[in-house]
Amino acid sequence: TSKIALIGRPNVGKSTLFNRLIRSNRAITHDRPGVTRDRMEGFVRREGEEWTIIDTGGVTLDENQTSAAQGPNELRGFEEEILRGVTEAIKECEALCLVVDGRDGLLPFDRRLATFARKTGKPVLLAVNKVDGGELEEECTAEFHELGFPMIAISGEHGFQMRTFEMMLREMLPDEEEDEFAVPEEYKQLGLKIAMLGRPNAGKSSLINALTKTERMIVSDVAGTTRDSVDVTYEIDDKRYTFVDTAGIRRRTKISDTVERYSVNSSIKSSTKANVTLLVLDGQEGVTSQDKRLMKLLDERKTPFMVLINKTDLVDPKQMQAVRKEYQEELAYCGHVPVLHVSAHTRMGLKKILPLAEQIWEECSVRIPTSMLNRTLEEVVTKHQPPVVKRVRPKFFYMTQAETLPPTFVFFCNDHERLKEHYIRYLEKAVRKSFKIVHAPIRLKFRSSH
Ligand code: GDP
Repeated sequence: TSKIALIGRPNVGKSTLFNRLIRSNRAITHDRPGVTRDRMEGFVRREGEEWTIIDTGGVTLDENQTSAAQGPNELRGFEEEILRGVTEAIKECEALCLVVDGRDGLLPFDRRLATFARKTGKPVLLAVNKVDGGELEEECTAEFHELGFPMIAISGEHGFQMRTFEMMLREMLPDEEEDEFAVPEEYKQLGLKIAMLGRPNAGKSSLINALTKTERMIVSDVAGTTRDSVDVTYEIDDKRYTFVDTAGIRRRTKISDTVERYSVNSSIKSSTKANVTLLVLDGQEGVTSQDKRLMKLLDERKTPFMVLINKTDLVDPKQMQAVRKEYQEELAYCGHVPVLHVSAHTRMGLKKILPLAEQIWEECSVRIPTSMLNRTLEEVVTKHQPPVVKRVRPKFFYMTQAETLPPTFVFFCNDHERLKEHYIRYLEKAVRKSFKIVHAPIRLKFRSSH
């Protein structure tokens, strides 16, 4: 598993912190000779994930002895010994947590360790320990900003901010399960998976035909496909696309069937099989109530989708303006959803469809580094503070990206119940703008840290 080393001066509370992190899991002790205490390793298990924390015991002398005999300022002579121990322990770690004592303030040896940690090039989190409550936070952390590491105030003994601390530690580690650069086999074979939804006669099959007219239909080399398969794969401009659930679309239906065919449920089912959903509407008609329900559901389910208003060749420009306005109003609640005016017959707007679908999918897959998120959070909150509610101003500590598909961001604050709806919208806008997530759905979650 990935490892994180706790480093710090003697007596800053590393071992208490270590014990809290591993809870009841047994620690593994490495016996090592010398003046130093044994190095301890323990597993941290949270929410199905496991990683290792190392208490670089090698860097600490017997803590009682040190404090009794020397006080925190008088480590000279031991410093080199301590740094040797740290060097050895952190070789095998992916990240470091520098622990300092919020009540002692910033001491010379903290600076030395900070410089040392910085030089490793590994991610470093600064834990300002022995902060026993939120009211002490600012006072205890003020001095430490100059070290320039992401920082959190905690109390290993009383558990203050432990969950956020654990999340921040975990965030420093690489994700083990996924290799970011590997293209999944399915994607190689099928390319982007697209669902075409919409009422009968809106022009779904005409659009598929128009998009794929001169293109190669991939049959043989995709495992398990036949010509009758409901998913059809094409190669278009050297890229593959699979239209999912095309059976219902391509089969010519009698008028009497049509009501059955456009059920909201089966539409949703198709969209879950796809990467991106295209909702096709007939530009000659207004938005039907079924279209509205479907759009609302797609939005609630955070489905990546776009709206295609088809048959625009049949609609006179003036009327088109009105139609456009109607859709804009209908979709006001999800402003990120692109609306294209197209015609399967004249091929108007067709060129934009697939690149836009690709873009939506790419935006859904972004992963933004935590450091960048938090820099942005600070700027955004400084620019507009959340409004005071019941005499308290909500305060943000930290944010992280918890998931992709869709990108999901978690904000940690002191009291998220106090956040106003309009402020949440401001945050969403800022996140979209900062990270160029224009057309993909995103999710914001809020947690109170203590
Ligand atoms: P589906 O049921 O959604 O697959 O709709 P179809 O693709 O079968 O189209 C229904 C009817 O609309 C057919 O008669 C098509 O020729 C016609 N149609 C589809 N797209 C367009 C378009 O862009 N312009 C015009 N004028 N007719 C279209």
